[in-house]
Amino acid sequence: EKEALKAYRDVVPRRGDGTVVHVAANLGALEEIEAAQAAGAMGVGLFRTELLFMRHMHLPSEDMQAETYSALAQAFPDHPVIVRTLDIGGDKPIAGVEFPEEENPFLGWRGIRMCLDRPDIFKVQLRALLRAAVHGNLRVMLPMVSDVDEVRRTRRLIEECAAELSAEGVAHAAFPLGVMIETPAAVFGARALAKEVAFFSIGTNDLTQYVMAADRLNPAVASLNDAAHPAVMAAVAQAAQAAVEAGIEIGMCGEAAAREDLVAEFIRMGLTELSMSPASVQRVKKQLSELFDAGT
Ligand code: PEP
Ligand code: MG
Repeated sequence: EKEALKAYRDVVPRRGDGTVVHVAANLGALEEIEAAQAAGAMGVGLFRTELLFMRHMHLPSEDMQAETYSALAQAFPDHPVIVRTLDIGGDKPIAGVEFPEEENPFLGWRGIRMCLDRPDIFKVQLRALLRAAVHGNLRVMLPMVSDVDEVRRTRRLIEECAAELSAEGVAHAAFPLGVMIETPAAVFGARALAKEVAFFSIGTNDLTQYVMAADRLNPAVASLNDAAHPAVMAAVAQAAQAAVEAGIEIGMCGEAAAREDLVAEFIRMGLTELSMSPASVQRVKKQLSELFDAGT
């Protein structure tokens, strides 16, 4: 069966109207690039940068980050590579940041909230991303967004970083900025967010826990933690509709993107990118090819 799936490695799934649906890879480290390429991943839909920060006893330098993001973009010259800015909270602390004790870390100081409060850390990452954007089709997305102001404040920081790099004579390039849709606030505010960004990527892992009010790590409520629940699917549909109406791209990088029972529904909603573990890429390419051959 594995051999038969290999036939789908280089397939480019195309909807009836000619639109390409990207089957991309979720990666957490450069070591995973080879597996993604071997599977035929059409770029990277989510590069989690947390590991870069957790691997060392100190914060990663701008040069080290710029090299990492450049290498990633260069590994997929024909497709977009989406890097997610640091998404960390008190449940996964890192060296160099003092996290407060929190009763509810999943509702607390994490992701974009922490980054905006720590421009000394955030700006290093944004400068590295601006430098890496010279080397490929790099995109950047923000995690845990719940308000348009978070996007605006990030944009101001990006402009500040670009101005600094220009003054220093360091090569850099602009990149499309997107947000993850993973809080109910982002779903209900999707129309306003769509006016501010170039793309959405739905994070069903967190979106499910927040819509269902069911901790994604707590086995006692695991049965509620299902992206196929009609309430979660309605949230995905609402975000997709806002993106389609605004004419921006929408994809998914939560684990539901590889679910055989949901993929067709996500395509009907208008998603044009599904990003997943490299191990699932060929199976989903096969499913999409069959779906589109059948005239969907
Ligand atoms: C998600 O929340 O769906 C997601 C892709 O991000 P993470 O699993 O890293 O929180
Ligand atoms: Mg998430």
